[in-house]
Amino acid sequence: MRVKAAIAFEAGRPLEIDEVDLEGPKAGEVLVEIKASGVCHTDALALAGGNATTRLPAILGHEGAGVIVEVGRGVRSVKPGDHVIPLYVPECRECANCLSGRTNVCWSIRKTRDLGVMPDGTSRFSIRGQVLHHFMGTSTFANFTVVPEIAVAKIRPDAPFNTVCYLGCGVPTGIGAAIHSGGVRPGDRILVFGLGGIGLNVIQGARIAGADMIVGVDINERKRDLATRLGMTHFVNAAELGDRLVPHLIELSGGGADIAFESVGQTAVMRQALECCRVGWGTCVVIGVEHGKEEMSFRPTLVRYGRVVKGSYFGGLKGRTQLPGLVDWYMEGKIKVDELVTHVMPIDRINEAFDLMRSGTSIRSVVTF
Ligand code: NAD
Ligand code: ZN
Repeated sequence: MRVKAAIAFEAGRPLEIDEVDLEGPKAGEVLVEIKASGVCHTDALALAGGNATTRLPAILGHEGAGVIVEVGRGVRSVKPGDHVIPLYVPECRECANCLSGRTNVCWSIRKTRDLGVMPDGTSRFSIRGQVLHHFMGTSTFANFTVVPEIAVAKIRPDAPFNTVCYLGCGVPTGIGAAIHSGGVRPGDRILVFGLGGIGLNVIQGARIAGADMIVGVDINERKRDLATRLGMTHFVNAAELGDRLVPHLIELSGGGADIAFESVGQTAVMRQALECCRVGWGTCVVIGVEHGKEEMSFRPTLVRYGRVVKGSYFGGLKGRTQLPGLVDWYMEGKIKVDELVTHVMPIDRINEAFDLMRSGTSIRSVVTF
């Protein structure tokens, strides 16, 4: 079938809107009509050529919501008409990781996902005979996409697409990082570096978990108001403090943070977050994705006395099992989502969405079809 998509042909070039060919779902796959898709920093990183596992040309996008229109052979868990959110972290419920009870990271189809193809090793997308790769196994910048059955979460049908798509990445990544990966406890003192689409959700998660002090750190003063409405108790402008940032944050938190989250994607900031953690148990949760092959470095002494560095992927949430519950939280008003979707525009204007992100004007832009 012919579908409308935003194509990333080459790193550093704007996306091109065009019609592409999409093959129907094969065994174990589903065809989803995408109704809306958020634009995340990770898409920008891939477009800039900074994401090690992206194969171009590709259809980017990993924060979508839509409706199942067709299912391939053997698919039983979803049917046409079901509302779904595609998952870049699948949940096969069979692999050692899924069965471990210790992680949400299902590695069952990672190899092919990171090669930009479906689990059978081929792509469903092409344009004028040229193969287009899938991205993160989701490719939501198209009005139809094919994804594996194990990579969709079935959600309630009354959730509006334009906002619930944000639960495909930003919302669970931030809220889950606070509640699951970070394990924020009542009374905790929390630092959040980077108050973008992810960090603001860390703030919501920390508030729900009962943190006493939630310090937001950003270089952009315009992030302050919204962060405050979501539960931030103190704002610190990293640009103004320069070298004095870390000592200032340690003092402000009364000797170091219980948990410090990095949601910027800069290795230098990850290091700052670790340095601000309290000796003994303070935990640095790395959410941000580094550019290319950059490394985070620190002296072993920093962790010798019990500080912990850990990563968080999709907020530690199991998509098929736990995402529907987060959609309920949104629909019941327990978490704010509408306020964070600051711009909605047709897919034809998707390059504007990237500009708004780069200039720090938007929190989340959503493109619709
Ligand atoms: P964003 O661009 O919306 O937000 C980044 C924020 O960081 C902005 O507010 C910016 O002003 C701020 N910032 C920039 N430099 C800073 C500095 N030196 N100190 C403090 N703040 C600074 O991005 P986003 O969509 O929120 O994504 C954040 C990061 O999370 C990206 O690296 C993205 O790739 C990553 N990410 C990770 C996961 C995961 O599962 N681990 C999922 C999605 C996104
Ligand atoms: Zn699995």
